[in-house]
Amino acid sequence: MSVTELGLPGLRSAPGADPTRPADPRLIDRFGRVATDLRVSLTDRCNLRCTYCMPAEGLDWTPTDQLLSNDEIVRLVGIAVHSLGIEEVRFTGGEPLLRRGLDSILSQVSALDPRPEISLTTNGIGLARRAEALASVGVDRLNVSLDTLRPERFATITRRDRLTDVLDGMAAAQRAGLGPIKVNTVLLRGVNDDEATELLRFCLDAGYQLRFIEQMPLDAQHGWDRAEMVTAGEILAQLRADFDLVPDTEERGGAPAERWLVSDGHGGHRGSVGVIASVTRPFCAACDRTRLTGDGQLRSCLFARTETDLRALLRGGASDTEIADVWRGAMWAKAAGHGIDDPGFLQPDRPMSAIGG
Ligand code: SAM
Ligand code: SF4
Repeated sequence: MSVTELGLPGLRSAPGADPTRPADPRLIDRFGRVATDLRVSLTDRCNLRCTYCMPAEGLDWTPTDQLLSNDEIVRLVGIAVHSLGIEEVRFTGGEPLLRRGLDSILSQVSALDPRPEISLTTNGIGLARRAEALASVGVDRLNVSLDTLRPERFATITRRDRLTDVLDGMAAAQRAGLGPIKVNTVLLRGVNDDEATELLRFCLDAGYQLRFIEQMPLDAQHGWDRAEMVTAGEILAQLRADFDLVPDTEERGGAPAERWLVSDGHGGHRGSVGVIASVTRPFCAACDRTRLTGDGQLRSCLFARTETDLRALLRGGASDTEIADVWRGAMWAKAAGHGIDDPGFLQPDRPMSAIGG
């Protein structure tokens, strides 16, 4: 049940009111997890049209008055950091670099005490001229999405001919001290599924950390097909044909990527590669995330079927304490897992670009 349906006077019967929840200020849930990582979507708009994410014509973008304002975002992040134990904040979208006032949001979040780790997931368009400023307003790390090194494939996948912009953006970000840049790659069968080795070689040479992400059922077109998905097993088999991979024994914690060190053949390693196998090797049991959409809806999971309307609370005059309580209650009710393999699995109503990937 969403808090909008309950209305402000109903706060007492909001999910936070569960009497079995221990009096712990953090974002704990019934399965022993603690969320310390907040993902904030700043916009659902995008300047690319990746085929696995949105249709060629784009989507009905959220009207500006329904999006959280810059001040509302900073207030919610402040509540998360001060009262709920959030240690890391990642801004995403849609394309976060399209958000007006991004630099101001970032500098206000980096002024919070304690200061959270701040990162951004971007498609890299326009990054070349923004990288220095992002570093100066407090961004610690960047993830850049790159699915191919071939211009014509890039244009096929993203429906825009912008590969050079992305590569220039990554290099500029590295120079600006935002590294090590993490590179997110989705492999699509029959499109770029033969490029794993080439992409890894490129990233190792440039000092970027490559992570392959299994394609998830979060596209606006509902075109995802489990049988067509390129699996972590296939990706690793491809890489192992060309590289000697050693499992990285460093504690993984809530990090979604399983990591391998790439041996240099002389007892050392040249870098690492990760695989985020959300579908074939779900990591829900170690999940430490809580999510905020651009229009102020709190989600306990990418695949959640319910949302909690924090925007209505903000605009209805709720105090920080009341908002924090509702946030705790919503996370307490988080499901054990995403259930993609369950026979009754239903894709969430919102696509990845509107939730924040
Ligand atoms: N526009 C930015 C970007 O592309 O990096 C941020 C938002 S995008 C939704 C975040 C990440 O989600 C990207 O790395 C993208 O490749 C990934 N993504 C989008 N749709 C996906 C899907 N259906 N399955 C897996 N990953 C997906
Ligand atoms: Fe835009 Fe990112 Fe979706 Fe591609 S994956 S269409 S860049 S939001």
